[in-house]
Amino acid sequence: MPICPNCKYEYVKGIKKCPDCGAELVDELPPEFILNEADWVVVYTTAFDYEAEMLKGNLESAGISATILSQKDSNFPTPGDLSIIKLLVKKEDAESAVTFLNEFKKSLESENEEDETE
Ligand SMILES: [Zn+2]
Repeated sequence: MPICPNCKYEYVKGIKKCPDCGAELVDELPPEFILNEADWVVVYTTAFDYEAEMLKGNLESAGISATILSQKDSNFPTPGDLSIIKLLVKKEDAESAVTFLNEFKKSLESENEEDETE
């Protein structure tokens, strides 16, 4: 289905230009457009690639799909803090992802400190 990269509306086959904004319709939105969609939220930021990768892996093994955005993604404009790597999940998964990340961090901390009191 052709889709407008500006309005994100889908159109029936045969339409080449968006009637609303005049943009050329595309067959599929490029990933950076999908990531711009409001249904992805940042649940974690870090300065370390390996940490983001590790957490992404952990989330995915818990059945939560996650995506990493960093300044190395030249397609994605990251205004502001360039040293920050962002971990995104879908909005419907945000709550369980945050819970999962908190539990995960807690388990890391208790491993380091061997202290289970709050
Ligand atoms: Zn449009």
